[in-house]
Amino acid sequence: MVALCDRCGVREAQYFKVSSGERLCLNCLFNTIEDTVTRTIRRYRLIGSGDRIGIAISGGKDSLVLMYLLGKLRRHGKIPRDAELIAFSIDEGQPYSCVRRSSAGDYIGKLASEFNIEYKLFTFKDLFGVTAFDVAQGLWGKGVNVHMCTICGVLRRRAMNIIGRRLNLSKIATGHNLDDEAQTVMLNVMSNDIKRFAWFGVTPSNDVAEEEFIPRIKPLRFVREEEVAIYAYYHGIPLMTIECPFVYNNPRFELKFTLARWERDNPNVKYSMVSFGDQLSKMINDRFKEQVKLNKCTYCGFPTSGRVCRVCELLNQAGLLEKYLRFTGKVPK
Ligand code: SF4
Ligand code: ZN
Repeated sequence: MVALCDRCGVREAQYFKVSSGERLCLNCLFNTIEDTVTRTIRRYRLIGSGDRIGIAISGGKDSLVLMYLLGKLRRHGKIPRDAELIAFSIDEGQPYSCVRRSSAGDYIGKLASEFNIEYKLFTFKDLFGVTAFDVAQGLWGKGVNVHMCTICGVLRRRAMNIIGRRLNLSKIATGHNLDDEAQTVMLNVMSNDIKRFAWFGVTPSNDVAEEEFIPRIKPLRFVREEEVAIYAYYHGIPLMTIECPFVYNNPRFELKFTLARWERDNPNVKYSMVSFGDQLSKMINDRFKEQVKLNKCTYCGFPTSGRVCRVCELLNQAGLLEKYLRFTGKVPK
């Protein structure tokens, strides 16, 4: 006998929602995902009237589902219709950059235009004068062991702020899902760095060292990764078929499996971890912010909690600092 959906009681149940113990048909699953995202946006006031929201598109399922959902919610008036949406991708300039591996190709532009969203492509080369691969080669050639994901991440955070200012964005939405956020909590605990929780949260100033920081919002942070993947699959959103080889050395990769094992015994473990991170963030945020005094980076002038910002530190180690400073006009040509 066919089990019926616990919500509608009409259609065949096809998905077991571990967190609630419900068996859902796909239609009701999609509705719960859309409701969760709408609730997150409304409850935390992530998008307001007149906001100019940048959508960071890696070309993976999470960012594409994010664009799809924001477009759909705006169309249906569930988020302000006058909120502007501008999608952008960043090509880090290494052979496995997300946008290069993405099977989405033309799909990104098509999806954007379907929802009346402008789409732009930026590259590290255009923004910094060097690619992630140049930086990696410089570092590794000098025997400095820095993971490729760190290079991508440090430069991408700076790139997003530069792009945000260029496009006059009020906020940047990223596709982080519940699993990403739970992993971040674990990584912060494992690195014994409680201050990092000051940048955790639903509306994090997760880059306190970047002046004119464009606030980040994460509308998918209460949706499990598996549910994002199913939503993508049944809405014709292409899934990434090639993994970046560097991801296997990234601690997040192992944590995926650890969390999946824990979830078998405690179906709400990911929600609990994110909630714990949020509470901790709230508790320490004010106290930590008082302790952070920003200086201007000696080289590029971007604010930093130390003397030299992380971007200049990496580029200096890679022997590319002068090239970068000349490119960005910080040193007379
Ligand atoms: Fe960069 Fe790491 Fe993503 Fe690969 S997995 S594109 S190295 S951030
Ligand atoms: Zn700097």
